Amino acid sequence: MSLLVIGSIAFDKIETPYASRDEAIGGAAVYFSYAAAHFAPIRLIGVIGEDFPGEQIQKLQDLGVDTSGVETAAGETFRWAGRYEADWNTRHTLETRLGVFEHWDPKVPADLRDARYVFLANAAPAVQAKALDQCTNADFVMVDTMNLWIDIAKEDLLALLKRVDGIVLNDEEARMLTGETNLIQAARGVLKLGPKYVVLKKGEHGAFLIGEGVHFSMPAYPVEKVVDPTGAGDCFAGGFMGYVAQAQNTDPTTLKRAMLYGTVTASFCVEGFSVEELERRDRGMVEARFNELLSITSL
Ligand code: AMP
Repeated sequence: MSLLVIGSIAFDKIETPYASRDEAIGGAAVYFSYAAAHFAPIRLIGVIGEDFPGEQIQKLQDLGVDTSGVETAAGETFRWAGRYEADWNTRHTLETRLGVFEHWDPKVPADLRDARYVFLANAAPAVQAKALDQCTNADFVMVDTMNLWIDIAKEDLLALLKRVDGIVLNDEEARMLTGETNLIQAARGVLKLGPKYVVLKKGEHGAFLIGEGVHFSMPAYPVEKVVDPTGAGDCFAGGFMGYVAQAQNTDPTTLKRAMLYGTVTASFCVEGFSVEELERRDRGMVEARFNELLSITSL
């Protein structure tokens, strides 16, 4: 059930219509780890600068995350700044300062290389590919990406898509990648690029999964007070992959249940800034919301 994640570890600066935060702990691989650790032991591969607080690494370890693959490099930790419009779905990236992330050459320690489940969280596709090269025992690999990489590293991304089992991406990214406006057609277009499964996220409108023998759609959990949507996609992926790793199965029923768990962990994420709400939740709360989600989406 070993699950390895590689991706950004960051300080985020977030502005919403109601509040703002600076130097908040974030990064795709961090959000993913918080969500996935409810289900399976996590191996985290990433890079931080000397400015990253040791206590945050300790918190991850306390969740059962193996951080021996987190490298400390000379320089600043990756920083990202974003601003949300009142509709929450429109996000403007204000700043991306790559810092130590820019020249990172990911190294997966020898004793972590046998992970069967691998998630390539947001990072340059060439970096994701280098990490994947080292995961010699992977039999279910999913990848995430973002508009920046589709813009500046599309060839690398297309090469990577031929090597993975699945991709999670949002509506805007799916349209950018395929040129299709209709999201079902866009998802089918992404399937033609290589992956067997596409999880397409539509923000507050939920997500759908399409691929080999499966087509499944989920609304988002009806959160009454959104505080900060940053990391929701990574937490969706964390709940999804965490459950798959726990179940040690990728049959259609498992993948559909994974969609529900992803919906649950994403909903916790948006209820607070950074990882604040995720820190407060335990597995019992995950199950309670899973059951609530089941009851409000079935007869
Ligand atoms: P999400 O809201 O799921 O798209 O994830 C937001 C997280 O992704 C933030 O914590 C950022 O630090 C991180 N992030 C933003 N841009 C990038 C990038 N270009 N590469 C890697 N991670 C990023």
